[in-house]
Amino acid sequence: MNFLLFGADPKPSEQAHRITLSDRIVPFTIKRSPRRRLCLSIDHRGLRVLGPMNLSVRQAESLVLSHEAWIINKLDVWRPERFSRGWAITGAEPLPLFGVPHSVTTSTHTARSPRVEQQDDALILHTKDPLDTVRNHRALVQWLRSHALQYFEMQITHYAKVMNVQVSALSLSHARARWGSCTSRGHIRLSWRLVHVPTTLIDYVVVHELAHLKEMNHSPRFWAIVESHYPDWRNARKALRGLTATLPLIEV
Ligand SMILES: [Zn+2]
Repeated sequence: MNFLLFGADPKPSEQAHRITLSDRIVPFTIKRSPRRRLCLSIDHRGLRVLGPMNLSVRQAESLVLSHEAWIINKLDVWRPERFSRGWAITGAEPLPLFGVPHSVTTSTHTARSPRVEQQDDALILHTKDPLDTVRNHRALVQWLRSHALQYFEMQITHYAKVMNVQVSALSLSHARARWGSCTSRGHIRLSWRLVHVPTTLIDYVVVHELAHLKEMNHSPRFWAIVESHYPDWRNARKALRGLTATLPLIEV
């Protein structure tokens, strides 16, 4: 859904299309002009295929498909520019933690480094300087990352056993839209930003990545594995897509 924001309102000379890359539906436009060499462009206008007047849709699509990884990475770079909201500790805006809104306030403290304390659905950041936003936000992100990691480790251990797969390493990314990835050697990478979404959705991402250790693709066989461990995957996938645009972007 979020990707519909890209490439909206194409100019009359540009043709709007859509293509599926990884798990996403990515809109793109084709722009033809005389003597134009074939190339891909991604910026605030989204993904565009630029080429000569006789460029066919099929040629454009195959160019897009052959640059899938590059496109996904680039789109991630541009996403926050388009719709992520800057989040700051003001005491006004709550921060979702595993899907539950938490209030975040600061409290002046003499300790050298800032420290986060959780009291039910409230987070209190003890800090020497409540106005030192960068330092305070970093401490908060650090705290969120460690909570994310703790939950990921627990669920990966659980599902790896159930699904009978071997995970060799787990690391955190800070991607805003690409929630997880994995290598054939069993190295799983998950975005710590998942800490904001309900645990049931995190479990879907975990099952999805672990299923890739059996099927390194998105074939019907892959989805059958996902389904046998996470029957409601379709709704989870949809919910995650819907949430992406609403997640806070903590400025650091
Ligand atoms: Zn996948």
